Amino acid sequence: MSDRRIPEFKYHPDPIGTGEFKILAEPEMCDCCEKLTNITYDGPFYSEEEISCLCPECIKNGNAAKMFDGEFHDSESIDEGVEDEEKLDELIHRTPGYSGIQQEYWRAHCGDFCAFVGHVGSKELNEMKIIEEVLDGENLIDDIEEIIRTRLEKESWYQGYLFKCLHCGKYRLHWDYD
Ligand SMILES: [Zn+2]
Ligand SMILES: [Zn+2]
Repeated sequence: MSDRRIPEFKYHPDPIGTGEFKILAEPEMCDCCEKLTNITYDGPFYSEEEISCLCPECIKNGNAAKMFDGEFHDSESIDEGVEDEEKLDELIHRTPGYSGIQQEYWRAHCGDFCAFVGHVGSKELNEMKIIEEVLDGENLIDDIEEIIRTRLEKESWYQGYLFKCLHCGKYRLHWDYD
């Protein structure tokens, strides 16, 4: 039986569900704490060294970022409006990142970073009835708006990345394409 308990990540609440943590059939040794783990990080990690296995705890407590001088998310690719340095530190050093087609981007709202919900397509956005909500205030050209309404698809050329504000609950979207 594998232990699937993981620490709580405010900005990425379900990293197993989003696919950024992988459940291992055979435990592997974490490159940071050198303990065996059943769950390893499978998302982006920007560091000099090649890391093959990181356990959730070493991400949560900041040890992995410290030991390998790395970041799980690019500190430049974020929405403006978060003044608190501690929040940025938690996001880039103590939160599992996510994998996008191009440079990943983290949305913010209400002065804080949003929680990453997962990869989405137009179908999911329509099913959740949040298309208007994610388009609200974005000022997009018609073509892009049309793509978001109809052509985004999980694991496709056009992908959507869904975020939710931790304070007002509003959904925000980032998208990119190949
Ligand atoms: Zn570890
Ligand atoms: Zn908000």
